[in-house]
Amino acid sequence: MINKTVAELSAALRSKQVSSTELTRAFLDRINKYKTLNAFITVDPERSLAQARAADARRAQGRGAPLTGVPVAQKDIFCADGWRTTCGSKILSNFVAPYSATTIEKFDAAGAVLLGKTNMDEFAMGSSNETSYYGVVRNPWDTSAVPGGSSGGSAAAVAARLAPAATGTDTGGSIRQPAALTNLTGLKPSYGRVSRYGMVAFASSLDQGGPMARTAEDVALLLNVMAGFDPRDSTAVDAPVPDYTKTLDHDINGLRIGLPREYFGKGLNAEVAKVVEAAIAEYKKLGAQVVEVSLPNSNLAIPCYYVLAPAEASSNLSRFDGVRYGYRAKDYGDLIDMYCRTRAEGFGAEVKRRIMIGTYALSAGYYDAYYLKAQKLRRLIADDFKRAFEACDVIMGPTSPTTAFKLGAKSDDPVAMYLSDIYTISVNLAGLPGMSIPAGFDSAGLPVGLHLIGKYFDEARLLNVAHKYQQATDWHRRMPKGFE
Ligand code: GLN
Repeated sequence: MINKTVAELSAALRSKQVSSTELTRAFLDRINKYKTLNAFITVDPERSLAQARAADARRAQGRGAPLTGVPVAQKDIFCADGWRTTCGSKILSNFVAPYSATTIEKFDAAGAVLLGKTNMDEFAMGSSNETSYYGVVRNPWDTSAVPGGSSGGSAAAVAARLAPAATGTDTGGSIRQPAALTNLTGLKPSYGRVSRYGMVAFASSLDQGGPMARTAEDVALLLNVMAGFDPRDSTAVDAPVPDYTKTLDHDINGLRIGLPREYFGKGLNAEVAKVVEAAIAEYKKLGAQVVEVSLPNSNLAIPCYYVLAPAEASSNLSRFDGVRYGYRAKDYGDLIDMYCRTRAEGFGAEVKRRIMIGTYALSAGYYDAYYLKAQKLRRLIADDFKRAFEACDVIMGPTSPTTAFKLGAKSDDPVAMYLSDIYTISVNLAGLPGMSIPAGFDSAGLPVGLHLIGKYFDEARLLNVAHKYQQATDWHRRMPKGFE
């Protein structure tokens, strides 16, 4: 059972081959057995099992929806009523959410079981899951390597079969990069497709929640639940949500794949390049045509992001002041001293670095030079995609320039770490949907992800294009050794 996809589990629950209570127990047992991965920050078996029993009762009454009774792990960035929600930070270590994020409410309404809250980089800042206050997460494919970040706990959990599926959030690559490094299928929807209400804000103009699972079909099942307008999120888009499972099998004969010239140059690991080229060759066999496109401002994506994201973060994180909720320093003098000590003790080094960069970039006198300039670059980057999409239907390339790196390898070099997202960040800056799918392995046996970028709100096409590839290949079925 633990190796079944969400679609298969849904069928097994429907035909009463297994109950949600049994399934939930089995996954909770595995979470416990593979604790050394550190994939979860909080598990609450009683709460999860109560949801499982309710799901079983609902199925018995014939009121089951596709996800009813399916255990889903939730990134610890989503507020879930009654659950501790830490966002990977000490400053929220004692915070029990008094309400649920829209995403959590939607999974609840679908009858899914909340299996636990997954580990993540502190406030989703990172590409390796090493900035979590709750410790590093290990990659099931090589436990001395990182799982990617910031949704590394979700990635490790699904890869090691501790959960059939999970949620992530992606501000600059945090769904796609960990999916690539752990052999998963992950989708960052178009900005506005999924509500951000109740999702702890990092950089509000870039953040987007999305599903992580093993197959495109499973991702479609989860996106069906997550997508949609929400009056509580002013940036949620009021556009109809198609049934994403309906178009998975569409013929992709004649599909035009754009390959950006800039994505295959310096900095790309040769073995990753080889796997990506083989995947493109497979698509040609499936009837796709390849055209070269250009994204001339790609090299500006990282500098642009590292002005805008910290600027937004410095503002968003000002709410953590030790007054309203979360951690408060024990010893302090006056009010200002309480703020200072609380934030000094409550935030980790990476978060402080971002707050400082952001505050600096937004200060009077520097605003025009940095923030305003970055906003203009952001437009140029979005325009590049617009032009490229005149010649193609999807853009493809590597998700990450390398496979999983060793724990600690980039911890002392933030710029090297920031380069992990070189291919993913521009997609967030433009607000486009992007996806990573398993495409093969390097010579060390580590997974490589293929990056798919779509036009605005073209998630259905991305899922279709991913599904067709998964029908023709079996990379996504491979399992890390030692977790059978
Ligand atoms: N690695 C990038 C960062 O550190 C992106 C993180 C994310 O997508 N949440 O900001």
